[in-house]
Amino acid sequence: MAEYANIIVDIYQGKLDKTFQYRVPERLKSTIAVGMLVAVPFGSRKMQGYVIELTDVCEYEEDKIKEILSIVKGGVLIESQMIALAGWMRENYGGTMNHALKTVLPVKEKKKAKEQKTIRLALHPVEAKNELAECERKHKTARAKLLVALLEQRELEWETATQQMSVSASVIRAMEEAGIVKVVSKTAYRNPVGGLDPGGEQKKLNEEQQNVVSKITMEYDAGERKTYLIKGVTGSGKTEVYMELIAHVLAQGKQAIVLIPEIALTYQTVRRFYNRFGAQVSIINSKLSAGERYDQFERAKNGEISVMIGPRSALFTPFPALGIIIIDEEHEASYKSETVPRYHARETAIQRAKMTDAVVVLGSATPSLESYYKAENDEYCLLELKHRVQKRPMPLCEIIDLREELRRGNRSILSDRLSELMEDRLKKGEQTMLFINRRGMAGFVSCRACGHVIKCPHCDVSLSQHGSGAATRLVCHYCGYTTIQPGLCPVCGSKYISGFKAGTQKIEQVVKARFPQARVLRMDMDTTRTKDGYEQILSAFSNHEADILIGTQMIVKGHDFPGVTLVGVLAADLSLYISDYRASERTFQLLTQAAGRAGRGDIPGNVIIQTYDPDHYSITTAKEQNYEAFYGQEIEYRKMMRYPPVWNMLYILCASKNEAEASEAAVALMGKIDQIVRENSEKIFPIGPSDAPVAKISDVYRKVIYVKTREYQTLVILKDGLEAFIKDNRLYQNVAVGFDFNPVNG
Ligand code: ADP
Ligand code: ZN
Ligand code: ZN
Repeated sequence: MAEYANIIVDIYQGKLDKTFQYRVPERLKSTIAVGMLVAVPFGSRKMQGYVIELTDVCEYEEDKIKEILSIVKGGVLIESQMIALAGWMRENYGGTMNHALKTVLPVKEKKKAKEQKTIRLALHPVEAKNELAECERKHKTARAKLLVALLEQRELEWETATQQMSVSASVIRAMEEAGIVKVVSKTAYRNPVGGLDPGGEQKKLNEEQQNVVSKITMEYDAGERKTYLIKGVTGSGKTEVYMELIAHVLAQGKQAIVLIPEIALTYQTVRRFYNRFGAQVSIINSKLSAGERYDQFERAKNGEISVMIGPRSALFTPFPALGIIIIDEEHEASYKSETVPRYHARETAIQRAKMTDAVVVLGSATPSLESYYKAENDEYCLLELKHRVQKRPMPLCEIIDLREELRRGNRSILSDRLSELMEDRLKKGEQTMLFINRRGMAGFVSCRACGHVIKCPHCDVSLSQHGSGAATRLVCHYCGYTTIQPGLCPVCGSKYISGFKAGTQKIEQVVKARFPQARVLRMDMDTTRTKDGYEQILSAFSNHEADILIGTQMIVKGHDFPGVTLVGVLAADLSLYISDYRASERTFQLLTQAAGRAGRGDIPGNVIIQTYDPDHYSITTAKEQNYEAFYGQEIEYRKMMRYPPVWNMLYILCASKNEAEASEAAVALMGKIDQIVRENSEKIFPIGPSDAPVAKISDVYRKVIYVKTREYQTLVILKDGLEAFIKDNRLYQNVAVGFDFNPVNG
């Protein structure tokens, strides 16, 4: 029972940082809780505020501190719920209450008197690069400067261009008239789906779909609130099931949140929801400004909308009577936040649902090990869709051993079998997707004479090559450092220094050389730089404006291309060698999802998986689309190695500009952990400290410690103990310590 309460008095002034401390009177001690609305004396007035933290530490002068007057009756508003959720997040993921509040509550932006204008490319990046070359040739330097910036950043503030870059307004207007750039005022995005027309017919669910819907809705109406896991093969009609469930809760006056990974949040997807539910649907995505997000959340609170679709952050939509939270592609790594608080949307959704009397529905063709493990242990209720809709067959999958291919003298990226099938599809006018599961497209730059690799001066990583010709730049993916490509090796002076390209660009060259008649599209970081680049490529391919689409994992995420009858995975094992205990899971998921892109129309599809490791279980089970077999092997490995989901893992990072200080801090922390381990009855296994996989970022050195235990709660208690140890300890004055529970990249 805490003595003091930290209170935010006026929540919507955007002053989340500013809390006031009050004493909790004896009579309220047993009832007061984080999130409650209370009445407090404020100056000479009486005001209302939210309790955001309860503590025994007095942070104000003892004799001047005022008492809370009362708990406001009926004050369980949506804000209270969200603040309580923030409290839970702080507790379970670390970080400060302020971080947590900023995550769950949208901050009202002070409206600028002037409208905000931004400049975007109106051209496809390829055309823009041609334009850039043209401008450089004609010495139109202002135009060239703007183009280079837009190719890098996709969007520029009007002020940045006109003031910092000194590009005059008339140049920008001239470029707009020539159709090279677009000038957009931000207010145009206040209703992100305003332009869509409702309509379209509703599908009649098949028996499998209907069974899933009936089970969930019947239990819902009976007042049961569970977490369901729908394991449905690719193309089994999960989205139709979601929509039916949403319709059910909407009919009872409740609201729905649908989480979809940002990359899959395309026009095509949003359109399906809009067709069914019309203007009560809205979306949010990372392209919305804080103000626009605030507007969407206001509309949700006012009852103007009742279905919100979006990535992770849509989870915090302040619906007053939330009925259901759906998480599509629940296995996606993007559901884990990479910034403090490092929350997982799945766990947080379950917590929010608990607080608001909602159900959670998770869906995937390849559930995360976490969720399937919970389903096996009856924490989640497993429901299955085993067949594709309309009896469409599953694709035919073949594994090609690339070592065998080499032995026969074929050194190409394309195996003979894949080439043969591609040839066949071109003849028939059907489409092919080629997929390389590799992060980052352009490779590193190295010297072929001495082997020197060009690294970022501030980070422990190699620079990546972007663009080509005059626009070639070397970019650090961690800190954004950009430089030009050197002509000579800085170590030995050799001129044989070049980019190692095994990425999509290289594949495009090979494919074009092999099939000169084919129309080829490429989708990667470079070609999707502009705001609509991604959508443009997808819709061009879906309109059959190309025969072959080449891309990274971007292209496998839940898109429906009925014309695709061949999918080629070029080097399936690339994702097996990343230093991450989830490497096999990632590989299995990527291959299964990639295979799922084949044959979604009426013609059955073929899948070719090329690999150097044809016997690896993640590859053989993906070939058979046998999730259970994969899961069986993988969970044994996790058990043996004490990895999640069987065990829980806490990752602790000590970061400092001073390497010695970072080390010292990490060693001291390890000492403290050892002490806690000795005092604890539960088995705790700490490992470290050691250098992080990326040992330096932006000149900051990074040391890590991993701790494994059976119970999550043990790790939470450990973290609390360490936070107390760090606080006021001089060792940590210049060292930032971060906690990450069950990290997704580790
Ligand atoms: P999933 O998300 O499981 O991969 P989708 O929901 O995208 O599958 O459905 C795949 C395709 O099948 C979509 O084009 C969808 O419109 C169609 N579809 C889904 N359910 C039915 C149904 N009951 N009858 C006819 N077509 C359906
Ligand atoms: Zn060299
Ligand atoms: Zn860097």
